[in-house]
Amino acid sequence: MTAMLENQALTLADGRNVPVSIRRSTRARRILLHVGVYDGTVELVLPPGASVREGLSFARTQTRWVAAQLARVGNGVPFTDGAILPILGQPVTIRRSDSRSALPVLHEDVLLVGGRDDTLPSRVRRWVRGRALDEIKPRAERMGQDLGRAPARITMRDTRSRWGSCSRAGNLNFSWRLVMAPENVLDYVVAHEVAHLREMNHSPRFWALVDTICHDVTDARGWLRKHGAELHRYGRDG
Ligand SMILES: [Zn+2]
Repeated sequence: MTAMLENQALTLADGRNVPVSIRRSTRARRILLHVGVYDGTVELVLPPGASVREGLSFARTQTRWVAAQLARVGNGVPFTDGAILPILGQPVTIRRSDSRSALPVLHEDVLLVGGRDDTLPSRVRRWVRGRALDEIKPRAERMGQDLGRAPARITMRDTRSRWGSCSRAGNLNFSWRLVMAPENVLDYVVAHEVAHLREMNHSPRFWALVDTICHDVTDARGWLRKHGAELHRYGRDG
């Protein structure tokens, strides 16, 4: 059993105030501090009997560790005027335009976004998601053809634990954030899920199949391990 308590702030050595959410856990054996690897949220977990004050004084002894974890996560890159996001690994700058059209338009390396200010971030997000589907769908269909298996439905998600998945019914799900990774990485994840249409496992047969439709498996997997979490910075405030 866990219960949310209140929100507090932790002051780091550089003067930054970081919000800390406090949670009680009957299973925790000691006071724990977590920093989310994808979003940099800081959580303090209190075991039975520990007070908020004790928890916070423990957290204050860990500020260097918290700062180091936050540095690894990186700052958020909110979708606003002037922000730079990668599309297929290439930088694209968001530019506010006078156009009244709500639909963002990509012009070379600039994404022109008109319409209302307050809905700009959500419209950019939707555009990136649409762009992801436009890149992923034809690839999945082509690779499916190569393997003699057509994917059923292809859906974009914002998943944290995995980049793609394949259901028994042959539906493929992908994180729309993959469209911000280099192209060979996107190709690899699509190949991986399409190969599951024939082999629902990670056997040597499965990997041999992936190799027939994708040539950069080792590089792409290495990139995801090293840089994958960075893709979660985009569209995040702070
Ligand atoms: Zn898999």
